[in-house]
Amino acid sequence: MANYYEILQVESTASAAEIEAAWETLYNRWRHLVTHHDPRVAEEANRALRTLEQVRRTLTDQAKRAEYDASLNLGGLADPQALLQAVAPPPPPRQLEGAATAPQAATAWVCTACHTPNATGLLYCASCGRQIGRECPRCSKVIAVTAPYCSHCGADVQAALDEKQAARLRELQAKVAQEAAAIDLLRRASRLSFFASPWSEEQKLRGQLWRSSSSYRAAWVFGLSWVVVVLALAFADMVLSFVTAVAGVVVILFWTSAATTSAAESRIDVHQARISQLQDEIKRLQAGG
Ligand SMILES: [Zn+2]
Ligand SMILES: [Zn+2]
Repeated sequence: MANYYEILQVESTASAAEIEAAWETLYNRWRHLVTHHDPRVAEEANRALRTLEQVRRTLTDQAKRAEYDASLNLGGLADPQALLQAVAPPPPPRQLEGAATAPQAATAWVCTACHTPNATGLLYCASCGRQIGRECPRCSKVIAVTAPYCSHCGADVQAALDEKQAARLRELQAKVAQEAAAIDLLRRASRLSFFASPWSEEQKLRGQLWRSSSSYRAAWVFGLSWVVVVLALAFADMVLSFVTAVAGVVVILFWTSAATTSAAESRIDVHQARISQLQDEIKRLQAGG
């Protein structure tokens, strides 16, 4: 059975200043819950604020407070509404990260634009389409867009978002560095010295570059054609040498033959001249005898 003093958690003999301070602390705790996305919490907060107003009006007025104190002493209660449990200190709005007592999932998410309660887990208001849910940056479950803490894993949404963004930034920067390293390697490969090690990374890349270039196939065709031409020339040369050799032999044979015939004929002429002389002598001898 909570009376006004119990609600404020002060002694019934508390000074006006003490009452004021206790009241303000409690009031401020409830005030921001009026806009809570869970309509039950919001309703509870509204009820608590109404009760606190009543408490303030009663306890800050000297006459009213005296009257109220008197009613307490009679064992009665001036205001049955003061029994409302709602005025117990509200649950702490903030939860430690990963705490076992993560905030309970709300039963409905109220749209901040049109105030329509939507089923939890929706990304957009069924009535006006405004975004009411978003993915928790840590556990990826859908939480109310207004929730500062994830109702599933308890993550501080803003901190987790910052962390995620920072991680993405690092990832992107690492990728940029990777690309720059690739460019560097390409530059080194393209300027590689003729005497560089054939097993170096640059040399391997050079091979890849060469095989992927548009000249690679043409070079093969050119190389093979060249070999064919060289072989053809060598063969033609061989044939020419043979023909030349044979021709030489033939010329020598003809030449020899002609010279021999000519020499024989001139000797035959000499012998025939002698025969003519001898026959003349024979005729002279026969005529004179
Ligand atoms: Zn809406
Ligand atoms: Zn989460």
